[in-house]
Amino acid sequence: MALFYSGIAGKRPGKAKGWVLHNDAGSQAATSAYYRAWLPTHDAYLGFAHAYTASDGTHFAEDYDYMAYHTANSEGNMWYLGIEFCQSMGNENTFRQNEQDGFKVVARWFIDENMTPNRSTVKLHREFSATACPHRSWALHGQSTNVVKDYYIAQIVLAMAELKGITVEKEEIKLKELGKMEFLFTVKGEGATFWHDGHKTFMLSDEAQLNMINGNYEQVHGKKPASVRQLDQNEYKVWQSMYPVTVAKKTW
Ligand SMILES: [Zn+2]
Repeated sequence: MALFYSGIAGKRPGKAKGWVLHNDAGSQAATSAYYRAWLPTHDAYLGFAHAYTASDGTHFAEDYDYMAYHTANSEGNMWYLGIEFCQSMGNENTFRQNEQDGFKVVARWFIDENMTPNRSTVKLHREFSATACPHRSWALHGQSTNVVKDYYIAQIVLAMAELKGITVEKEEIKLKELGKMEFLFTVKGEGATFWHDGHKTFMLSDEAQLNMINGNYEQVHGKKPASVRQLDQNEYKVWQSMYPVTVAKKTW
């Protein structure tokens, strides 16, 4: 056995591929202060992550350039950073706040590394080895790997927007650069065309609505509105988290 110390798992041979977001299976008492004291007195192979978010703040246990034993899998341990959302056996509101604090930690890294949160860069422990982790997020956010991942991804995107100082208004994020743009897009697996008017997104239910928008836009701007590429379902989920989609009302 080797007691945990910073650096014990060695330096990562390259840039991290992303993050594994964990639930610690700890009680209300398993705070950052608790882990700060507990880790150095326990075998590192029992597992440790880079960061721990709890009601008393964040404990950074390991430098991001170093690996950590957090997934029971060589790919996960070597190439992914790990964060524990603590007190996952405790009070729901406390746990949800710990999640939110964790999303900010992860969002900071995505901004600093110029990386994009997606299903490849945001991982669950259970994708690497047999475990119930993240048991509490699983119970709260969807009980399916991709649904929980998509929730994490959307929350990280929102945290990134907040860290960049993008205004949050009525629970909607208005990305300034996109807020000025008007365009049409489609979504893989969805029959409809979507119209983003710079503030809101509308799902068009038929060809007549699309013609109405094209025609009115052309009358004002002298050209048809831009069409952007087809989004995949994951991108669409993230988009919806920023700009809730409503079905366009017929006005004729
Ligand atoms: Zn885990």
